[in-house]
Amino acid sequence: MEREVAWSKYNEESIKDVFAFAEDYRQFISKCKTERECVKEAIVMAESAGYRNLSDIIARGKTLKAGDKVYCVNMNKAIVLYCVGKQPIEKGMNILGAHIDSPRIDIKQNPLYEDNQLVLLDTHYYGGIKKYQWVAMPMALHGIVALKNGKSVEITMGEKADEPVVGISDLLIHLAGEQMDKKASKVVEGEDLNVLVGSMPEIGVKPKKDEKENVKKYILKLLKKQYGIEEEDFLSAELCVVPAGAARDYGFDKSMIIGYGHDDRVCAYPSLVAQLNTENPERTTACILVDKEEIGSVGATGMHSKFFENMTAELMNQCNQFSELALRRALTNSNMLSSDVNSAFDPNYPSVSEKKNASYFGKGVVFMKYTGARGKSGSNDASAEYMAHLRKIMDDAKISYQTAELGKVDVGGGGTIAYILANYGMNVIDSGVGVQNMHAPYEVISKVDLYEALKSYEVFLRNA
Ligand code: MN
Ligand code: MN
Repeated sequence: MEREVAWSKYNEESIKDVFAFAEDYRQFISKCKTERECVKEAIVMAESAGYRNLSDIIARGKTLKAGDKVYCVNMNKAIVLYCVGKQPIEKGMNILGAHIDSPRIDIKQNPLYEDNQLVLLDTHYYGGIKKYQWVAMPMALHGIVALKNGKSVEITMGEKADEPVVGISDLLIHLAGEQMDKKASKVVEGEDLNVLVGSMPEIGVKPKKDEKENVKKYILKLLKKQYGIEEEDFLSAELCVVPAGAARDYGFDKSMIIGYGHDDRVCAYPSLVAQLNTENPERTTACILVDKEEIGSVGATGMHSKFFENMTAELMNQCNQFSELALRRALTNSNMLSSDVNSAFDPNYPSVSEKKNASYFGKGVVFMKYTGARGKSGSNDASAEYMAHLRKIMDDAKISYQTAELGKVDVGGGGTIAYILANYGMNVIDSGVGVQNMHAPYEVISKVDLYEALKSYEVFLRNA
């Protein structure tokens, strides 16, 4: 049973929508490289689509009714959006979820040091990466520094053409005999991912006798001048380095996009846009964009936090629909697409896929009934009945979709946020977009898969 290629559905006119949406997405991921940046942009997009901050509505004691649109922000790193449906919320919501954190290199709390007139930042990588992929390339610095006076300094350096970049060195091939014999997991080790940020003392300043670390002193002076921060302020900072520069069209035919952080913004962005495009729904719609998926969905801003449940309680309260039982019913009666990337079949590495149950570029949005590893361990296994319900919705709307697992049995596997929402007893299935080079600094997606994801999310919010 083979699935059709989505491209063949389009003509010269309708294909323009596919490419136009891909271009909006390309600009989004070029600009939004951290969860904070994604939330900030999501708020701008939501407000221009008529969404209001739920905390303002609570503060003013306003009530909400069918058709109203609100958003809630969790510590600037996660966001939930709701559009109130005509039906009582306890009948259940149609929920889209995706994560907006991506693998990267985080700066340590006490990072700055000088070694032989070179100044470096010590790091601790975030998420699962092949460390050897993250060296010898231009990197940008993104994040915030929170100050004791309550203010925060936002930092982005290395994205504009006239800004400097930073990076992590690799060993020259001429001296790498020993390194090349190592296992790939040991070729570059985590503690050695140090970011080079300076190499020159302040010009025209004569060092005093026995004065040390003049290069570091100059870097600190530049940081003070440019951002108003001091060395101690790194203690309360969230800074990371990510590949510098914009995502790009990929291939002679421009049918793909290469860029940083497709996992999982290639699902988060169309989920957000589908939510914003859906007005006056029958069932309440929700879009959850969360942080920390790459490290286990833990913490206050990950999916394990009670934030979504609490905000749903607040929403129901403002709609005069809250009771503890109604909230539980709302969650249990909900349907969810938990969207995350799948490993698209790669002709360079065919041995890890089982061809009948792999996802392919160009065959549309991917449904994964289960994920997990070693005997489906850790997986949310969506019910057959729910999958049948989705098949009907997708086929009726002529959405191109495919089904897949993440790799061959016992080759590996992966997790998502699906199993966490499933704890409420709601219907949840993993869906998403196929990606090549997952978790590499630059990942690749197909534009038509991105567009089919958008369309599938729209019909899901309307009809699930
Ligand atoms: Mn993911
Ligand atoms: Mn991931």
